[in-house]
Amino acid sequence: MSFSSLGLSEQLVRATTDQGYETPSPIQLQAIPAVLSGKDVMAAAQTGTGKTAGFTLPLLQRLSENPREGKGPRALILTPTRELAAQVHDSVNLYSKYVPTKAAVVFGGVKINPQMMKLRKGLDVLVATPGRLMDLYQQNAVRFNEVEILVLDEADRMLDMGFIRDIRKILALLPAKRQNLLFSATFSNEIRTLAQGLLNNPVQVEVAARNTTAEKVKQSVYPVDQSQKSALLSKLVRDNDWDQVLVFTRTKHGANRLTKKLESDGITAAAIHGNKSQGARTRALAEFKQGDIRVLVATDIAARGLDIKQLPQVVNFELPNVPEDYVHRIGRTGRAGESGHALSLVSADEGKLLAGIEKLIKKQLPRQEVEGFEPQNNLPLKPKAKADPSRARNRSGGGGNGRNGAGRPGGQRQASPGPGGRSRGRGQGQGRSAQRQSA
Ligand code: AMP
Repeated sequence: MSFSSLGLSEQLVRATTDQGYETPSPIQLQAIPAVLSGKDVMAAAQTGTGKTAGFTLPLLQRLSENPREGKGPRALILTPTRELAAQVHDSVNLYSKYVPTKAAVVFGGVKINPQMMKLRKGLDVLVATPGRLMDLYQQNAVRFNEVEILVLDEADRMLDMGFIRDIRKILALLPAKRQNLLFSATFSNEIRTLAQGLLNNPVQVEVAARNTTAEKVKQSVYPVDQSQKSALLSKLVRDNDWDQVLVFTRTKHGANRLTKKLESDGITAAAIHGNKSQGARTRALAEFKQGDIRVLVATDIAARGLDIKQLPQVVNFELPNVPEDYVHRIGRTGRAGESGHALSLVSADEGKLLAGIEKLIKKQLPRQEVEGFEPQNNLPLKPKAKADPSRARNRSGGGGNGRNGAGRPGGQRQASPGPGGRSRGRGQGQGRSAQRQSA
């Protein structure tokens, strides 16, 4: 299957060839014909699947097939974060290289006046975060009466971030007759309710089973005490010669603290989170992409939408409170067919979070202790009723029900070595997912 056989024009196909894309990704195979048909689309797609081109290419084709005079925007793409907005705008520019479409991006955290000037000049495609878009609307800088296509990108995250009111306000201002495309990594009841009110007889597109992690990503868990995590991370970065590693922390404060610690260990690092100015975030990302800094420390919300090609290594310094965020995090590596490694440093108090993640992704992650960093407090263990015999043997030393899981140094070790350290323990925590904590 090629891009041209999906019904895309020669100009758009040429733009994909310029990007080095040889064949459409699975989401593109399904979404491109659906969007070209003019129907509403509801797509379950994580970041890294090629979803942006999946909606942008056919959207551009529909606009260029049917040129109109006016100030626009004719297509409105809403995204949850500034970074994702900037990145989608970049993609629109790349894919529209050979068509006359004009695009712009607006988001908060930067001056509003230049954005007003841009909008005044007229445009076809507007990429926006909801809050800033409403500000611009209230200042009469943008009108929605020409909108033909609406895209909600990463709709689940927009709801998580509390944008539902802005989204509803924007929806109420759009012309009734339009095409709606909703992309979301997960489908909670809240998303389904939004979709029901928004989409008209949508084509449903789903690539990987919901909440399954990218197959090319190797995942491991390194059990370690909380107090030892930053020292272990520095060791791993040094021992493995990692040049570009994205590290997730749960909080902004934690991101700052870890960045300082890495720097004091002689490892170049920068933090990216919601308290940083847009300028600081853009600069940190650019330096990371260029290889000037080795470690980018990010909170979940800030990291959402970062597109860094072929990121080989992702580290969860702390597990996320919401298991779905684990799937998003590790989606940062092994992108569009590349292989990658996602490693989680997990302390005993995170046993329940780990269990929630393993339940969601329906697999147990291999545990590998690193020599010199063996935890004083082991991860909780809970033998499964139907454990495979070899695993059961490996667990036989400890086999408790692991309800508290603390204070068993030296228990449950397994002998095979793994990357970055000696592989030893193996086990599984239990419990329910915890509530989201703001990042
Ligand atoms: P996305 O899921 O839209 O964030 O895209 C993830 C990455 O895949 C981006 O870096 C795109 O440039 C890349 N990509 C998108 N479509 C393709 C394709 N058909 N072949 C190879 N790479 C692609």
